[in-house]
Amino acid sequence: MGMNIAIDGPAGAGKSTIAKQIAKKLGYIYVDTGAMYRAMALHLLRGKILPSETDKIDEKCREADISIGYENGEQIVYLNGENVNSLIRTEEVGNMASASSPNPNVRRKLVELQQKLAADKDVVMDGRDIGTCVLPNAKIKVYLTADSRVRAERRYKELTEKGVSCDLDEIEKDIINRDHQDMTREISPLKQAEDAVLIDSSHMTVEEAVDAVVALLH
Ligand code: C5P
Repeated sequence: MGMNIAIDGPAGAGKSTIAKQIAKKLGYIYVDTGAMYRAMALHLLRGKILPSETDKIDEKCREADISIGYENGEQIVYLNGENVNSLIRTEEVGNMASASSPNPNVRRKLVELQQKLAADKDVVMDGRDIGTCVLPNAKIKVYLTADSRVRAERRYKELTEKGVSCDLDEIEKDIINRDHQDMTREISPLKQAEDAVLIDSSHMTVEEAVDAVVALLH
């Protein structure tokens, strides 16, 4: 078992930004588990499956082979051998990921992959159930959160910088909705692990949040 760091929290709390920097600082491997649920969601969307069609999700998810690779330190997600990194960052895929992630077969498949990745390496892994379910013995567990308005503003800035036009209120509504789905699902819902440290990044810079996590190692 490597020296693992688990970072969980709601959508847009800055988990991936912070986890990536921690990994770089410590020479660990960054594992973005949300990207795996997103790749699965892309497979379902391509198959014209609706979030409500649970029996079809079961069948479809069996044909999806999801794997992870690294290029220049960046995580690449492969869906049946295809690099899908550039296709999984849309709101449509994010919402389908949230709708399909309660499915037990989807979770079983992806959790197995995640545990394999962490078994023999030092990883910083971010997601929703890493501290509670995927890596219960992680050395450090963090529950990273921020006010929903702040999270929406960050997302808004990210999208407008990319030239995508969007509405701040809509984004916040989407975020709240997704958190609700993730927190109330039956299997491994999003919640703070008992032994996780709570970090609220609402009024923190990225650097401050990174330092707060790294300080836990000492
Ligand atoms: O973090 P990200 O927004 O990429 O995750 C997309 C969705 O995937 C989440 O809303 C959640 O439903 C699901 N997910 C999960 N467990 C994880 C990571 C993500 O259920 N460990």
